[in-house]
Amino acid sequence: TPLSTPDLHALVEGVYADLAPFRGEGAVADYIPQLARVDPQSFGLAVATTGGDVITAGDALAPFSIQSVSKVFTLALALGKWGDGLWKRVGREPSGTAFNSIVQLEQEKGIPRNPFINAGAIVVTDSLLAGHQPREALGEILRFLHFLADDESIVVDQAVARSEQATGFRNQALANYMRAFGNLHHPVDLTLGVYFHQCAIAMSCAQLAKAGLFLANAGRLITGGSVVSRERARRINALMLTCGHYDASGDFAYRVGLPGKSGVGGGILAIVPGQAAIAVWSPGLNANGNSALGTRALELLAQRTGWSVFGG
Ligand code: GLU
Repeated sequence: TPLSTPDLHALVEGVYADLAPFRGEGAVADYIPQLARVDPQSFGLAVATTGGDVITAGDALAPFSIQSVSKVFTLALALGKWGDGLWKRVGREPSGTAFNSIVQLEQEKGIPRNPFINAGAIVVTDSLLAGHQPREALGEILRFLHFLADDESIVVDQAVARSEQATGFRNQALANYMRAFGNLHHPVDLTLGVYFHQCAIAMSCAQLAKAGLFLANAGRLITGGSVVSRERARRINALMLTCGHYDASGDFAYRVGLPGKSGVGGGILAIVPGQAAIAVWSPGLNANGNSALGTRALELLAQRTGWSVFGG
């Protein structure tokens, strides 16, 4: 049975209060100065329920760089465009390697393990470029987020996008390598241009929780209207659970027990099927590049709500 709104309010506030003393934990991503400039003390939580409540605590309304959380939304769009044909170009297995790893691409002939590691997400973005200019593909991603979050104010942080582009040598290597295998269909700089901009989209926890809610609601908006089929929502959730935290996906399942996708900006989107979408943000990262305090907040919340998909 769903928790009552007042109970959930108290739980969210309790988790925030218990963890606020640990703000600043972990190391803020510093591969570009625009991310390193973020206040390491930032900590926000938002829970959007299928009943229509949005419960927030801390810095839940402050926009941050969503980075790899964007990969969930581009995957939903690409599956809409290509259906199961997408799986010819990207796999569905956890990688067991870091987010930006290149090692498997040689053995697996340019087919990345899953859509949530960088290589896989670059393929997914490339698939969205078919028949489009980069600007149109990015526009499609932004419009999708506006529609899902019911909020047109969501934009790309252009400074972040520019420095991703200027320093993205590793992503360029991944993209060129896959292009050599014929698994990128557009010039590398065009595909990466869209990829870097999607990573640089800025959203708050509240916006992100609202945008992810269709995945908790059998693929539908809570105001009605289908975003993806029930089956597709379930499958995206399965991929988030198995692949959403890079080489720490098993640990996240063990600790939190929810489908989740992290980003190097310190955000995590987690899905409670049937109940809620949760977004947390704290920029300090653990050794695997996932939000340290954000993971702890989800762990505590899942414990206290009994929301783990593996049993309360
Ligand atoms: N823009 C980052 C990259 O491609 C995203 C990584 C992440 O969020 O984990 O390297």
